[in-house]
Amino acid sequence: MSRKIFHHPDCMVTDCADACCRYGVDVLPEEYERIISLNIASSKEFTKPYESDGEILYRTRVRKKGCIFLQPQRGCRLHSTGHKPITCLTFPKNLQEAREAFQDGYLPCFDLNQVVSPEDTP
Ligand code: SF4
Repeated sequence: MSRKIFHHPDCMVTDCADACCRYGVDVLPEEYERIISLNIASSKEFTKPYESDGEILYRTRVRKKGCIFLQPQRGCRLHSTGHKPITCLTFPKNLQEAREAFQDGYLPCFDLNQVVSPEDTP
């Protein structure tokens, strides 16, 4: 019997143009306050607070390429600071969310996750 091994692709080498950051993300008020107070980003890089399902949230602004924190080359400007929003750190949170994101076209690396390791085939 063969066993599937899920390979986590290296985000910096896949040819996805940072697709999963295309729409920006919701940011919790405490994350917003921390990022601003540490001078990691400016309040102009976030939307005004808005209410969603009774919760107050901010959202990263989006430019032509996607989330405002995407760097000109590749990758997220917040990544090296250790203060990425929790939504970014946990996406995709499960296989179903990964499949749905792939089908919606913003997680193209998911296909790479289907690679079966040659060592694991019988
Ligand atoms: S904050 Fe960073 S990881 Fe999150 S959507 Fe924006 S660019 Fe992507």
